[in-house]
Amino acid sequence: MKLNYTIATLGSHSALQILKGAKDEGFKTLIVVTPDRQKFYGRFPFIDKQMVIPTYKDFARVDAQLQKQKVILIPHGSFVAYLGVAGNKEIKTPYFGNKKVLDWEGDRNQQRKWLTEAKIRQPRIFKNAAEIDCPVIVKGFGADGGQGYFVAQTQKDFAQQIKSFAAPTSAATESKKYLIQEYIVGVPMYLHFFYSPITKQVELLSMDRRYETNVDGIGRIPANQQMQMPISPSFVVVGNSPLVVRESMLAEAYEMAERFVTASQKIIDQRGIFGPFCLETIVTPDQKFHCIEASCRIVAGTNLFIDSSPYASLIYDEPMSTGRRIAREIKIAIQKKCLEEVID
Ligand code: AMP
Ligand code: AMP
Repeated sequence: MKLNYTIATLGSHSALQILKGAKDEGFKTLIVVTPDRQKFYGRFPFIDKQMVIPTYKDFARVDAQLQKQKVILIPHGSFVAYLGVAGNKEIKTPYFGNKKVLDWEGDRNQQRKWLTEAKIRQPRIFKNAAEIDCPVIVKGFGADGGQGYFVAQTQKDFAQQIKSFAAPTSAATESKKYLIQEYIVGVPMYLHFFYSPITKQVELLSMDRRYETNVDGIGRIPANQQMQMPISPSFVVVGNSPLVVRESMLAEAYEMAERFVTASQKIIDQRGIFGPFCLETIVTPDQKFHCIEASCRIVAGTNLFIDSSPYASLIYDEPMSTGRRIAREIKIAIQKKCLEEVID
């Protein structure tokens, strides 16, 4: 079925997945790109049209044009990273998702309240260095993908390292510079969900673990050599690998996601969060999820599953990526004449 709407996004992050999914669902597709990426995105025949802007921060320049073309914009990680919360709110083109969620997601204190309301386990937060009584990870505020974090073992170690710590600046940066969080020793598992306000169901679509440099590389060097090298771990994400979790933990994964959605409807507004979101967890030997952060949109780890995932295959008898699932939701909303319920 051909649909008289165009799905558009910024050329970065998970744009290929989103637009491939949109094309598979019968939409026209458009990518907003910078000149250096025109050739790259031109390689993919499922992208019907390009709109060029000098930098992603200049998105406002094409906003009016997009509004005239029955476009629905799908936000991904680059939207907050490059336009900030305020920049996202200024977008006038119909935008998939509830923009009120951005204020709760982008402020770590608000996000903590939300996860607490959802009764999701989180690492402890230390208000100041004097409270530190275990290894900690120190994070700058803002969506910076692990850039500029450091790990400290003790109060003394913290005092030493904070001297040279420059919190990263991003469009989403807030006034307070950093957060001191308990370091959880376990394995990272990023759970990708989708909540449909139409079916009122949560779907677990896939999972990934991140490949972070240099923390994932340090173990390649023998411990005695690590001791002699001045390496401190950094957590900049550069890739992702697929993952499945022990089946006995899946029920709790679903329940956490459901509580997260219900809590959002209570504390944000009636619509709360819908569409894709990710609970970013560290799992400890007692098989408990500790949520270090929630991302309230499609995450790049879903790019592993353009052709579906083990979990999506349990729900759908056809390939279903998160990008395609978004387009499917929009298509159903158009057919049911309730598009306004899924856009902002
Ligand atoms: P980019 O468009 O690559 O500059 O990324 C925009 C935002 O998404 C940044 O905050 C990145 O850290 C995050 N991001 C990009 N790629 C990935 C990935 N493969 N996994 C997790 N986060 C990512
Ligand atoms: P984030 O930007 O909060 O998603 O964190 C980036 C990466 O830092 C994660 O993928 C983990 O590898 C690591 N990390 C963040 N918070 C913690 C924590 N509390 N304990 C252990 N590792 C963490």
